[in-house]
Amino acid sequence: MKAKVIRDNCIGCGACQAIAPNIFEIDDEGLSKTINPEVKKEDEEDFKDALESCPTGAIVEENE
Ligand code: SF4
Repeated sequence: MKAKVIRDNCIGCGACQAIAPNIFEIDDEGLSKTINPEVKKEDEEDFKDALESCPTGAIVEENE
């Protein structure tokens, strides 16, 4: 499973970084990016919580 941020939809609220700090960080532009797009097994729960919590639907799951 891979995490992706659609940056055009991100408003930089910081929720994803707060919920899943192993996966997301707010960058210099004030928008979220993935630290490592590959979601580790132990981070899957956090990833799903972040995906559901994003107010703009900017987080998507990419399956290979
Ligand atoms: S939760 Fe969504 S809108 Fe907020 S910083 Fe993360 S990707 Fe951007």
